[in-house]
Amino acid sequence: MRWFVRILVFLLVVPLALVAAFPQILRCQLIDHAADFQRLAPGVWVDKQTPERQRVYLLFEIHEARKRLEALWNSPAQSRAEVIYCQTPEQYGRYCQDGEGAGCSLGTPWGDSWVIINPYGRNPDVLAHELCHDELFTRLGWLKTQRQIPQWFNEGLALMIDQRFTTTTDSLHRFEEFTDHWQRQSKGQQIVLDLTELESLRDFFSGSSERVMLAYMTSGREVARWLSVVGRQGLGKLVDAIWKGEEFGDAYRRLEQEAQGKR
Ligand SMILES: [Zn+2]
Repeated sequence: MRWFVRILVFLLVVPLALVAAFPQILRCQLIDHAADFQRLAPGVWVDKQTPERQRVYLLFEIHEARKRLEALWNSPAQSRAEVIYCQTPEQYGRYCQDGEGAGCSLGTPWGDSWVIINPYGRNPDVLAHELCHDELFTRLGWLKTQRQIPQWFNEGLALMIDQRFTTTTDSLHRFEEFTDHWQRQSKGQQIVLDLTELESLRDFFSGSSERVMLAYMTSGREVARWLSVVGRQGLGKLVDAIWKGEEFGDAYRRLEQEAQGKR
């Protein structure tokens, strides 16, 4: 095939296939036409029945979540995800792929993304967590995120600003707190998970809720450890390196070694 035909096929087939496989993406894409939603602020959608107080809190909490995001990334947030705040679990299920959890984030190869919030997920922790997934997605793009980022890193990073597990912003202290959580969840290391068992989305979320929680704590502990070594600039350097074509694993180890060498 001539190159332009290939590109044309790619541009047409990939979006159609994605939309067919994940109708939630189409619903998110058409949120401004949804009968039950209205725009609260630029990029923020709420169910029309949402009480006034909840609307005010939601905007405040998004603001708080963004502040945490910028502190972690040490630079202005690039995430442009539209936030969709649902009022019922059924509504949430229509916009979020598996309909589970307090919130979820969706992104497309063409760069649109959404953070969908469950009725009980409206708080800065869930918002910061999901916006952190979106920040990584925005900075790396869909393909690089899919191909390069292991799920343990994506989840571990989001946990750094999800204060359900730690409220400290000091990286060494954060590592100690996650080590405590991990010790408890692994029952004193009787059950341990290797990072290589947590690379794909499916691997990460397979098994019992106990195992998934251990997967989170294993990931949070590892990312907290890495950040305590590479420092505040490390995350930006990692993303730059992957963007320039270095493999995730190589860049992750190299930055750690370089930081240790400077000590
Ligand atoms: Zn997550």
